[in-house]
Parts: sequence; C-alpha cells; structure tokens
Amino acid sequence: MGAVILNGGRERSLQRRHPWVFAGAIARVEGTPECGETVEIRSAGGALLGRGAYSPASQIRVRVWTFDSDEAVDEAFFRRRLARAAARRARPEYGAAAACRLVHGESDGLPGIVVDRYGPWLVCQFLTAGAERVRQIVARELQALFPGAPLYERSEAEARQREGLEPRQGPLTGRAPEELVEIAERDCRFLVDLVNGHKTGFYLDQAENRGLVGAYAAGREVLNAFAYTGGFGIAALRAGAERVVNVESSAPALALAARHVELNGLDPRRVEQIEGNVFEVLRKFRDARRRFGLIVLDPPKFAEVRAQAHKAARGYKDINLLAFKLLQPGGVLFTFSCSGGVDLELFRKIVADAALDAGRSAAVVRVLTQSPDHPVALAFPEGLYLKGLVCVAD
Ligand code: SAH
Repeated sequence: MGAVILNGGRERSLQRRHPWVFAGAIARVEGTPECGETVEIRSAGGALLGRGAYSPASQIRVRVWTFDSDEAVDEAFFRRRLARAAARRARPEYGAAAACRLVHGESDGLPGIVVDRYGPWLVCQFLTAGAERVRQIVARELQALFPGAPLYERSEAEARQREGLEPRQGPLTGRAPEELVEIAERDCRFLVDLVNGHKTGFYLDQAENRGLVGAYAAGREVLNAFAYTGGFGIAALRAGAERVVNVESSAPALALAARHVELNGLDPRRVEQIEGNVFEVLRKFRDARRRFGLIVLDPPKFAEVRAQAHKAARGYKDINLLAFKLLQPGGVLFTFSCSGGVDLELFRKIVADAALDAGRSAAVVRVLTQSPDHPVALAFPEGLYLKGLVCVAD
C-alpha cells in the first residue's frame, strides 16, 4: 500500500479526526498509488494516522476512510459503515413510502458517497476518486443491506470534475426507473424523477423546513421563489395558505409542481405558476406593488467555496432585499443559503443588510438547517451547508 507523509505539524487536523488531507500538507508520497487507491497517512515522524483514498487531481489529495490504525478498508469496512448509516436513520418518520438520505458522505464516514432512498429505490452518487474506485463494493453491500432494492446511479455532480472524473448515470443493478417514484413527506405526496430530476431527484435536505412553512402559512398568500417541483408551496397549501405563486426557471420542474397540486387534492386555482428568473420576476412584482404574507427564498448554490463568497453575497442581498420589499406588514420570510462558502454569520449579515436597505425592520424567529438525515460529524463542520432564517417583518 502506498503512503502519504505529512509535513511537520500537519498531523493535527487528522488527530482531530478531520477527514481531508490537502495537497499542501503532504511532504511526499511513497509508492505509486493509483487514482482512488487506499493509502496510509503518516505523520512526519512516521506515525500511522489513518487510511484514506488518494486523489491525485484534487486539492483534497486524500479523504480519510478510517482513523483506526487496526481497521482495514475492505468489503467488511463498507458493510459496517453502511449499516451504521442506515441505523442512524432507523426512525419511524422514515417509513416505507418516505424518502430520506441514507448516506451523507464524510459525516457518515464515507467521503464522496451519497445514497438517497425514494420508496424502494436507492439512488447513489460517487463523487470522488476514492468513492469511484469502491463503487461496485458499495453497490453489492447496499444490495445485501436492502434486499431487492433497485439501485440507480446519478454521479453527475460538478464535484466529480474537480476529481478528474467523468459524469456517469444509469442503473447499478437491473433496470432504470421507468416512471416517477411517489414519496410521502408528512401529509404531502410528491413525484420524484430519479433520471432527470435535480441532484438525485428531490431536495430531501429541506424536508423538515417544508413542514415548518406549514406552521406559518394559514391564511397567507405565499411566494415560493426557486420552487423546483413546488414542495414548499404544497406544504403551505395543505396547511391552509390562501394562494401560492411558484417561480421557477426550469419548465419540467414547474410542470411537476402542477401535477403535485392535483396529486395532493388541492384546487389549482389557488396556484399561480411563473416560469422565469426570480431576480426579474421579483422586480416586476415590486414595480407592480404586489405583496405577500409569506415568502420562501430557496436559491441554488451561489458559492461552492469561500473564495466565491463575495459574488454570492451580492446575489443573496439582491433577492432578500426584493423579498423584504414584497412582504406585507407582519409578513414572514423563509430565506435559505446552501452555499458552502457562506456561513451562517455571513448569511445573517447579508439578510440584515437587505432588510436595512429595504427600509424594513425584522426579527429572526428561527434558525434552520438541513434535515437530520443529513447529519454533520462534529469533526467535520463543513458538512453543514444549509442555513435558513425565518424572519418576521414589522
Ligand atoms: N425549494 C425547492 C428546491 C429549490 S432548488 C424544494 O423544496 O424542492 C433551486 C431551484 O431554483 C432549482 O429548481 C433551479 O432550477 C431554480 N433556479 C435556479 N436559478 C433560478 C433563477 N434565477 N430563477 C428561477 N429559478 C431558478
């Protein structure tokens, strides 16, 4: 087995069980490890700190599989990790028709591996060189853990480019899904397109927050900006919202949002569908003096890394400023950021600036994050990427 030897002093983050070894921390590589192969990680003094996957194309040169010097990275290792991840989700709300994230990468001790469950289906992403190399093992162990569950792969994320990997999509076992998969989320039903949908098909990380929107929705007119397939809007309508306006740039997503209205037994006259750019549509609403009692802003990632935070901040400021202008007195704003490069404190400042520039005073009544099936390992704070604020405006 090859080995990476760290520079003096660079063992500290490994000792704190942080799972990434950056290229700059490495003094030299022993042997000729292949892309994704398991290597030993040793301190400058030669102490074995763990074993991880070697990724020559990435700035994150090694991702740790195990910190235990006695633990081999073999099939039994992946069986144990997958079983532990499944056990963490063994809760009543994740019943048969429910969807949930079964494996959340680093935070489940499986860097680069994501597995989402939609009814009987398991949808997998292998996003790093190490994950790519063990993909067949993981597929076999998943089949052993969930007998009969069909496996589909959606390894297309940008993250793979940084690892020098091509995107890949298709069935891992047997067949591809021929139709949309129906899932239940509390009292809402959704159809998930595993083949063409975003990510693995659905934004599972917002599941709990969609439920929370319901608590504020009764009697209000709701603006659901960046609606995707309308999840927040359905939750709001089921909880008694008067009307929902979905704004979304993707036509197929918006078409599915319309089907969700019907599927949930709701009156389509309570829903307005706008295919367009949120930045422009909100400006039009402002100019037309439209007002809403509840606004959800759930934009895509504006900044992957800290270096893009400045550009991202402008985007967040713009939409939040517009949202504050569109809020009725006493209105509620659910505003989110899923940018890894923007932390909660920066996001709170951006939203505060937006309110100030809009001439509104508002208070944060809740701080939100990703659903509990997207855990964050204590040693890996980067695993927390979704931040949300519920603001009530005066
Ligand atoms: N709230 C959704 C998830 C939103 S993901 C849910 O709960 O399911 C972000 C969505 O914003 C994506 O569907 C993407 O297509 C859309 N989007 C991205 N940029 C946009 C823009 N400028 N205007 C409108 N929609 C946009």
